[in-house]
Amino acid sequence: MSSFNHCIKFELDIKDENIVFKDYFYKSIKLQKHKIYEAELIQPACPFCGSLDLLHNGHLITNIHYPTANASLPVIIRLAKQRVKCRDCDHWSMAQSELVNKYCSISNASKLKALSALTEDRSMTSIARENNVSINTVQRVLGNCSHRFIDSCEYLPAHLAFDEFKGVDRQLHFICLDSDNHQIVQILRTRYKKTLLKSPWKLYLKRFDELEKVHPRYNWHYKDCLTQAQVVTEGINTSTALENSYNLMQSFIQAVETGNTHELKSLINCQDQIGTLMHKTLLTFEHNLTAVLNGAALPYSNGSLEGFNRKIKQIERTAFGYSNFTNLLTRIRLEEDLYKEKEPNSLLMAA
Ligand SMILES: [Zn+2]
Repeated sequence: MSSFNHCIKFELDIKDENIVFKDYFYKSIKLQKHKIYEAELIQPACPFCGSLDLLHNGHLITNIHYPTANASLPVIIRLAKQRVKCRDCDHWSMAQSELVNKYCSISNASKLKALSALTEDRSMTSIARENNVSINTVQRVLGNCSHRFIDSCEYLPAHLAFDEFKGVDRQLHFICLDSDNHQIVQILRTRYKKTLLKSPWKLYLKRFDELEKVHPRYNWHYKDCLTQAQVVTEGINTSTALENSYNLMQSFIQAVETGNTHELKSLINCQDQIGTLMHKTLLTFEHNLTAVLNGAALPYSNGSLEGFNRKIKQIERTAFGYSNFTNLLTRIRLEEDLYKEKEPNSLLMAA
């Protein structure tokens, strides 16, 4: 009997000394074949006074879902927890194990497996199916470690990259990364409203020497065959202010790319006749001159964050969207490489 017990414990990787396996059999539950193990959980001593003089009073039987390598044959441990009364202090108690939490029928091993699957780009439905638990259980596992990622802003790194991304209910959320180690500093629920422009505005933002100058394309707006360069030239020729603004912006792009802060400074103080919006922008730059010059001179950029936002989009797409912001936030943090390398155990136990 003892070697049978050891053999099953080795197979299921259960180390608790107080669990003794007695039998196993197959049973069909809801038309699916299940592998059932029968075990007893022994209460060795009174948890209140440590006495060994115990009066046994039956068992509480719990069916525990346990992870299995073969998802088509789910494993259930039918655990009989000993109920005892202490003869010394008269307290009642029930045997407990690390295999499963009190009042719970999902083994901690199953939760751990679900949590480690949550750090990958997978849908909750597929995780639930593989681990033979309900989607609600997977959601609860996600919820249990969310407290780690909400309001955890005790420090600010020296260099921040920040951006927004479309998340729950098509709202825009705020995200910022540490520019040095590319780790998330904070994700906030904040929304922004933004008007999006259409038409050929993108061409005006491009560098002039990158515009197509040889092959003309038919343009519905101009009802003519024009190259990109011609579209822009035609556009800016209509107004001196626009032309000046455009040339100023082109010089500005060049100065930023070459890190020429001297040139930037003189451009910001430019006295040419320009549009009111451009003038407003220059005033803002003048107001934040140190930040603008630092931005041009230092190597930090939002590149790493833009990459991260691409990843967030993928997370949302895999789940077909999230309706709960905290769940989305927790999932983003779990899929961060930081937690993939670490033992997910620490996350679950802190819950
Ligand atoms: Zn006692």
